[in-house]
Amino acid sequence: MSVDWRQRCATAELAGMRPGAEVLVAGWVHRHRHHGGLVFFDLRDRSGLVQVVVHPENPHFALAAALHPEWVVQVRGELHQRDQARVNPKIATGQVEIVPSELTVLAEAAPLPISPADEGEVEESLRLRHRYLDLRRPQMQRNLELRHQALQVARRHLAEQGFWEVQTPSLSRSTPEGARDFLVPSRLAKGRFYALPQSPQLYKQLLMVAGVERYFQVVHCFRDEDLRADRQLEFVQIDIEQSFVDRDDIIRLGESLALTLAREVAGWQLEEPIPRLTYREAMEAYGTDHPDLRFGMPIMNLTPEALAGTVPFLAEAARQGERVAALASPRPLSRKEIDALSLAAGVDLGSLSLAEGKAGGSLGRFFDGPLAQSWGAGEGVLLVAHGPGDVFLEKMGALRLRLGREAGLIPSGAHQFVWITDFPLLEWNGEDSRWQAVHHPFTAPLDEDLERIEESPGDVRSKQYDLVLDGFEVAGGSIRIHQRPLQERIFAQIGLSKEEAQEKFQFLLEAFRYGAPPHGGIAFGFDRLVMLMAGMTTIREVIAFPLLSSGADPLTGAPSQVTAAQLAELGLVVELADPLPRPPVS
Ligand code: ASP
Repeated sequence: MSVDWRQRCATAELAGMRPGAEVLVAGWVHRHRHHGGLVFFDLRDRSGLVQVVVHPENPHFALAAALHPEWVVQVRGELHQRDQARVNPKIATGQVEIVPSELTVLAEAAPLPISPADEGEVEESLRLRHRYLDLRRPQMQRNLELRHQALQVARRHLAEQGFWEVQTPSLSRSTPEGARDFLVPSRLAKGRFYALPQSPQLYKQLLMVAGVERYFQVVHCFRDEDLRADRQLEFVQIDIEQSFVDRDDIIRLGESLALTLAREVAGWQLEEPIPRLTYREAMEAYGTDHPDLRFGMPIMNLTPEALAGTVPFLAEAARQGERVAALASPRPLSRKEIDALSLAAGVDLGSLSLAEGKAGGSLGRFFDGPLAQSWGAGEGVLLVAHGPGDVFLEKMGALRLRLGREAGLIPSGAHQFVWITDFPLLEWNGEDSRWQAVHHPFTAPLDEDLERIEESPGDVRSKQYDLVLDGFEVAGGSIRIHQRPLQERIFAQIGLSKEEAQEKFQFLLEAFRYGAPPHGGIAFGFDRLVMLMAGMTTIREVIAFPLLSSGADPLTGAPSQVTAAQLAELGLVVELADPLPRPPVS
């Protein structure tokens, strides 16, 4: 019997309807049970659940009793107020239930490898192998919906400010984001390759030369990296570029987008303006360029105190140019705990505590009460260490995070953005013995550091800015170099000869000859931002079809072998671990 689907209502709508109404719903059998001689099942659609109750005298009782989880059914019936004892406050339609006058099975389901109704842990490769079932789970549906909302809000927000969404190619030339490219062999030009974009960086700069002025794009980017951290080979950016701007303009724009998303999608009301730290400040206080500022406990610099000298080995370390630093643990720690922390952090931790005016801990013998207090020993214990350079600060930063988490210092429901600015422009690559761009080679140096480019490249700061949320980098960008001579100086510093620069970026350099406006931009890591707004701990939870961390897709079997004929057509010879499938017989 055909049905007029326009009559179908979403289960969520039923919550607002009066009992007695005649309704048509359709969806999946979520849970199914016999109880007190009745059959109950929850019918699930995208909007939620509704209970269907079938009495023994109902002509559909036998069919209702025979239903299985995840069968697709259509139910027409009357909406009833539930008995008080059966009200379920956990679901939106918990006050009502449907008594069916028609029950139709639209599709049966085979026994399930994973159950959408099951909230327990399921092994990830199994979830991804049957992602279409995994995505039926209400939590996953919420994640998809939140991602959709975030996309709509971002697009609306940027469009309202005059940004055009311009699409750039996926088959293009290598872009210099510093990761490995995904290459696509060309059939028409054998032996040549396209690179999938690591970002649309060069195109968006060309769009500025083209007079677009305000560009954005929701774009897939590809970086062929080992997936140790929570990364995907393919990820989505909200990519933005604007002409006639300086650093503060892009920071303001990024800030309004981030805060709008936080407010409208996640429902967070956050501090405005977002605080800013320079890269140096972040490193010194938190030992990282993506600090989690939901709690304090900054790294204390005790180098001057150490130099002034009550603790001989710390004074000596400080004289040797090392930094002496400390973290104030809010709770006392046993010697054993401190040893375990030292081992995990890779630094030697001394301890200084203060109880009833007396200094204690492994460093206590060097201090009296007031002196210990002047070093910052209060309640709990001060963990003191020394070491050289930023590597030492990074270790202290990791220790800070661990101490903060273990002491429960991160309030639940708290969220904190922070901008990091004034990054170094160049960093030394010891392996290749050369300077390389920290961001990418089109990032402009700070005006006041222009003179240092040749004489002390490591001290040049850049117009790069990163946006950090709860300890994760969620966006990054920079003001670009728009003048050829400066661009050539930077290329020279990173060891790119004129010829190499020409070879790689000829089209950009050429475009810059024809009137490039000052410009800059930013890109948001959309997956990560959505993950944080959804309260998830991996980006795979907010990507419809992610890859496993091995890079494999258990659902489609990608990456897969191709036929010898396909390889031949591309002019490729491939060394294979396994034999190739035979080409089809024609
Ligand atoms: N292309 C940069 C990136 O992917 C972002 C930017 O500089 O706008 O990190």
